[in-house]
Amino acid sequence: MPMFSKLIVFVSVCSAVFAVAETLPVWEARPGNFYGNGPSDQKFITLTFDDGPGKETPRILEILARYQIHATFFMEGSQVDRYPEIAKQVVTAGHEVGNHSYTHVNFYRYKKPDARTRLREELQKAAAAIQRATGVQPVLLRMPHGYFRSWVREVARAEGYTVVHWSFGCDWKPMSAETMAQAYIVHARPGAIFLFHDGGKTRQRTVEALPVIFDTLQRAGYTFGPIRTWLRSRSSVK
Ligand SMILES: [Zn+2]
Repeated sequence: MPMFSKLIVFVSVCSAVFAVAETLPVWEARPGNFYGNGPSDQKFITLTFDDGPGKETPRILEILARYQIHATFFMEGSQVDRYPEIAKQVVTAGHEVGNHSYTHVNFYRYKKPDARTRLREELQKAAAAIQRATGVQPVLLRMPHGYFRSWVREVARAEGYTVVHWSFGCDWKPMSAETMAQAYIVHARPGAIFLFHDGGKTRQRTVEALPVIFDTLQRAGYTFGPIRTWLRSRSSVK
């Protein structure tokens, strides 16, 4: 091939690569980034469990083990202090852990002017509890009640957290396990982030709905996993 043609080929390959790179979203665990869904190029659903660890967590771990599925557990620091062994069990089973604050403050109702300071303290206290119990330093944050404003992003960035919320969840609402399972199934789509709860008084309906959801959606070609499946960790970010 003459030199000139080689150059043309090289230039066109490079511009094709740049064009693709420009259109791809950046899935990086950078502090301050916010995600409400995962990549939609595969039939993959992210599984997340909030408000734990709790008494029901081991039952949920059993189901996940049976299906060989890993998930992300957004833990409440006060619950971790209450059930440190269950928190450790979650990590030992290979699941990912994120920060869900220490006391689950509702910032929609928190009217004091020190909200930023309060959030910073909540995150630090929860991270310390998670670290003590599991040895993991969390880098993912899910805000209690899904509260998100620009100041939350600033605090998250300063504290080193990537914020990940959800695309669908309903397991805290009054409905039968059957209706609940169907609601999740209907909202399945590539890139979905499902929110469930392992913390709380009883999660009987969640425990009953999960196998139905997994069976149905696995038959439909979906796979499940934690956030780390698609969100590159900071150490691998150039
Ligand atoms: Zn919560």
